[in-house]
Amino acid sequence: MTSFDPSRQAARPAVYLETYGCQMNAADSQLVMGILRRAGYQRVEQPEQADVILLNTCAIREHAEERVLGRLSDLARLRSRRPELKLGLLGCMAQHKRQALLKKAPHLDLVAGPDTYCRLPQMLRQASFDPIVDVQLNRDETYAGVVPEYEHAVRAYVTVMRGCDEFCAFCVVPYVRGRERGVLPGAVVDEVRALARREVREVVLLGQTVNAYRHDAVDFGELLRMVCAVDGIERVRFTSPHPRFMSASIIEVMAAEPKVQPYLHLPVQSGSDRVLQAMARGYRVDEYRALVDRLRTALPELALSTDIIVGFHGEDEGDFEETLALMREVSFDSAFIFKYSRREHTKAYKLGDTVSEAEKAGRLCAAIALQEAISLARNQRLIGRQFSVLTEGAARRGNRMLSGKTPQFKTAVFPATHGVGPGDTVLVRVESATSHSLGAALAQTRAGPPHAPPREVSRADVSGV
Ligand code: SF4
Repeated sequence: MTSFDPSRQAARPAVYLETYGCQMNAADSQLVMGILRRAGYQRVEQPEQADVILLNTCAIREHAEERVLGRLSDLARLRSRRPELKLGLLGCMAQHKRQALLKKAPHLDLVAGPDTYCRLPQMLRQASFDPIVDVQLNRDETYAGVVPEYEHAVRAYVTVMRGCDEFCAFCVVPYVRGRERGVLPGAVVDEVRALARREVREVVLLGQTVNAYRHDAVDFGELLRMVCAVDGIERVRFTSPHPRFMSASIIEVMAAEPKVQPYLHLPVQSGSDRVLQAMARGYRVDEYRALVDRLRTALPELALSTDIIVGFHGEDEGDFEETLALMREVSFDSAFIFKYSRREHTKAYKLGDTVSEAEKAGRLCAAIALQEAISLARNQRLIGRQFSVLTEGAARRGNRMLSGKTPQFKTAVFPATHGVGPGDTVLVRVESATSHSLGAALAQTRAGPPHAPPREVSRADVSGV
């Protein structure tokens, strides 16, 4: 364990920041560090070195609260040696559970919601005297002009939209992140240009319903085109689109812009119309199916992943079988599958649970097993084919191996070669496959265009749900 160094008192105040949850939260942590660095703080890697410890939390998943409370009580022990240490909670959970958290974690000095980060330096000063809670949502806050502190990586996530207006029955996001608002298109492009200067090769545009983006006359398709025009950026992705907003023009841009990678995470949640309606998702299964057909017609190399919730209120065995049938039919490349758990304040919360924990667990296992088999079969079909891979760094497993992503966002692992490192795009030939990754050999150290040249797609070919 690193010991406390008294000499750092003379230096800039040190912040230790830990992030939980989704990519939006990770991107918010970079914003928070950008704001604090500008206010004179420096980041440290160990809580023992910090003057301020912040946890950026997530309210979406089950047990997240217990996990964060446990971590907070561990960290609070550091205060017995250093009473001046400040402990703060940021993010969705801070917004959602502030009352309970303040009661259960009396050592907290600061609770700040996702729209309040510009006020953090001021809050930290005030928290020297009294605990402070600021969870006010702000319809206009987009953090335009804030320069995030990016980690050094070949890929960067750029938030283009905050909040959500959809109010799906199971989801707390609209309550904890507020209503939808788009970042100014010019600010998005400036940020992407700055990333290109830092040798970032791939950007992922982020939003809860990213394809619903609109700012004055600029819709998401237009924003995609603007980002693709930035020199130095080789690959562009976005997540997560909502099926309802997957319009003809967006599909057209995806097909026409070679930088937009042929991969889409398109949450379906259930294969039953009855359940989709209860979830207030705003589409039917046949509409989702037709959208997948249009996407695959326009982008034949497209890989698809999805989110599925099992055991939602009212889901019976028949509904669950329909979900399995849809998974088989669409043949997703991968899926994030979750057991439904009720979230306070949501529409479904008061409806209660109709599926027992044991049934939910059984459905979860069955859905995961099916998806593993589908993913394996899909990946095995790629053996013998060549893909361009953006190298990210050393592979987690194996000596002298590198890893990176194919255009379809599949992890490819290949032998390290002199002169190939992070940020290099190489051509690999797939030699083996598991359900989660591809084993490959280097075919060429410099790849051509990121994926096959686009074919012409007319507006008549494609239209949204
Ligand atoms: S679209 Fe639905 S699931 Fe996604 S963030 Fe918005 S409310 Fe939640």
